[in-house]
Amino acid sequence: MRATVMYGAGDVRIETVPDPSIIERTDAIMRVVRACICGSDLWPYTSMAPSETGQSMGHEAIGVVEDIGADVRTVKPGDVVVMPFAFSDGTCEFCHKGLQTACVHVGFFGNNGINGAQAEALRIPLADGTLFRLPVGEEDALMPSLLTLSDVMGTGHHAALAAKVAPGKSVAVVGDGAVGLCGVIAAKRLGAEQIIIMGRHADRIALAKEFGATDIVSERGAEAVARVKGLTGGYGVHSVLECVGLDQSVETAIAIARPGGAVGRVGVPQHEAIPSARPSFYGNITIGGGPAPVRAYIDELLPDVLEGRIDPGRVFDRVIGLDEVPDGYRAMNDREAIKVMVNP
Ligand SMILES: [Zn+2]
Repeated sequence: MRATVMYGAGDVRIETVPDPSIIERTDAIMRVVRACICGSDLWPYTSMAPSETGQSMGHEAIGVVEDIGADVRTVKPGDVVVMPFAFSDGTCEFCHKGLQTACVHVGFFGNNGINGAQAEALRIPLADGTLFRLPVGEEDALMPSLLTLSDVMGTGHHAALAAKVAPGKSVAVVGDGAVGLCGVIAAKRLGAEQIIIMGRHADRIALAKEFGATDIVSERGAEAVARVKGLTGGYGVHSVLECVGLDQSVETAIAIARPGGAVGRVGVPQHEAIPSARPSFYGNITIGGGPAPVRAYIDELLPDVLEGRIDPGRVFDRVIGLDEVPDGYRAMNDREAIKVMVNP
């Protein structure tokens, strides 16, 4: 079969690799129907050290179960399923708490040698705990929005929960990538009254407004902080969704939170220490978040997708085949595309 392998920064190749096969009795084999390229794939795309063996890429997909191991009970061949970006056993203490990304058997697709989803098929470890069966056919018109349940919509929702978004609150979203845009959807869905999107790309801002953003702040640093305070009676917002992960974006997120406010971080940190220890301390600001347990959120978000109340699939503005994946990485990295869907 064909799959995407990254060999170093800027070096993405489509290669013929061995077909995946059942190794453990809890595995399933999934044929990929739709996959996509994630903003977090751009971190290795811009910084990965050269590798002889390469890394199989992709952690978001919808597929059809082709084969299952002897112990798999909840999915069967022919089922259309969504694959969260992390696999999890579904049985440990953390899975029961709805924190599958801290599962004692967790692993992340397309990372650390684990097979990725920008491919024709892949092996799904712990299939019972990981895969979520969808009540649709594989060519359903809702496929783009359903695909976002594997990562970006669940991640935006997680940021909103960590930032304690609630009815009537003011919210700022730092970052106008697909996760930030889904964060706007999540904030509106949870009843936020004011939603400030912080970004500077015209296409993304336009979509953010359609998703429910009420104000746009395109400045950066101190100017951005001043703008947000000006929009919120001088105090800052109740809730900040930090969807980037850079030092400056986290500093801005903390600086625009009002005293007693909360910052929900879902941008993968590109730093070791959280900046702005003193401002967050003196403001009594809660800093939360982490890798979203998107598996836990599918139950809650799926009805809104199926019944058309939210349409996160609009973040996809380019659809490509597997052979075009290297150019898809380039397009997202050059901000030519918001998010690229792959139809293998
Ligand atoms: Zn678990």
